[in-house]
Amino acid sequence: MVKKVLKFGGTSVGSIKRIQHVANIIKKEHDEGNQIIAVVSAMSGKTSELINLSKHISDKFDNREMDVLLSSGEQVTCALLAGALINLKLKAKSWLNWQIPIITEGEHSNARIIYMNVEKINNHLKQNGVAIIPGFQGISKQGDVTTIGRGGSDATAVAIAKIFDTHSCEIYTDVDGVYSTDPNKIPVAKKIDKISYDEMLELSSLGAKVMQSSAVQTAMMYNIPLEVKSTFTERDGTKILNQENIDYTKSVTGVAYSKDDAKITLIGVQDKPGVAANTFEPLNKAQINVDMVIQNVSSDQKTTDITFTIKRDDLLKTYDILKKNKKINYKNINHNEKVSKISIVGAGMVSTPGVTYKMFKALSEEKINILAISTSEIKLSVIIDEEKTLNAVKKLHTVFELD
Ligand code: ASP
Ligand code: MG
Repeated sequence: MVKKVLKFGGTSVGSIKRIQHVANIIKKEHDEGNQIIAVVSAMSGKTSELINLSKHISDKFDNREMDVLLSSGEQVTCALLAGALINLKLKAKSWLNWQIPIITEGEHSNARIIYMNVEKINNHLKQNGVAIIPGFQGISKQGDVTTIGRGGSDATAVAIAKIFDTHSCEIYTDVDGVYSTDPNKIPVAKKIDKISYDEMLELSSLGAKVMQSSAVQTAMMYNIPLEVKSTFTERDGTKILNQENIDYTKSVTGVAYSKDDAKITLIGVQDKPGVAANTFEPLNKAQINVDMVIQNVSSDQKTTDITFTIKRDDLLKTYDILKKNKKINYKNINHNEKVSKISIVGAGMVSTPGVTYKMFKALSEEKINILAISTSEIKLSVIIDEEKTLNAVKKLHTVFELD
């Protein structure tokens, strides 16, 4: 007998029929002799709908009341799922954040789980019961209801796996795992059986949004193995583990891309200490997310060029801030508003020489011009013209034997 956390996302509990289906999955796991703690999201679309309601009251809806409002979505699915399980003659019971309690710290809408009482729930499990817990929320030390950030049910599941010391943490969702690239656009994409936490983080921050990144980070910190799988098929999902548990036969695990990027180049910037800091400080203050930054080696020791990428939506704002910035001097500024970032990600890259060359050669064969390059230990990214995105992804997927 093992103890498991099964987390069901919004689409998995998006209708009564689906909730009944989830109840059957839980019953099967329970009948196999496992102790089940189920964590649920709100029904799909519910959280956004609640946010919209608050906007009808005020654009500056009170933070504390917002958390009371948003936490209700998960309360609904908890009760419906527990009811469905009781109908299947299981001893199921839901607990709300304050009943457990799940203690959080930090500000409203962005709190962190720091403690959970395990006693009541463990007792219930020992008596052959199934426990249902709402994701995404907790209660502060002062007794206020809190939420832990959009997509936070994943973080709740990981926290439960850690605190209850469960055997596994299974994330049930509407896709059947993590793919080597976007399967909707590139049909030859393959499901990855095992992926390391770092690779998963690189792939998800680049667009393969399967799990909340901060939940993956927490799992990595405590070495909690995860499994992402589909609620709607019985196929094996993707296991997310420590690198040591994976045999790398390929240098590259996945090809990711981001769209809606823009690139800005400052030409003839003074080459002296403090210039980069002065350039990016006001952008940071305006919460503009700067992604890739590249500075050329200065050829005359006096001036250099700085290139960086941002989201396209931030382009005008960024221009404005740069033009008003009295702390920096540059000769010229130019931009390209339709670029994308293509990245190859793989822990196997570390031990394979020539990956960089192979990527550049593949892109040149497709006559794709590289506008900027950045590398990290397990990732190699290039900026290219947006219209060549799928072309590049397809080619790299083939060249690195992922088809
Ligand atoms: N219901 C919350 C949201 O939509 C939490 C979650 O689904 O993980 O963000
Ligand atoms: Mg979710």
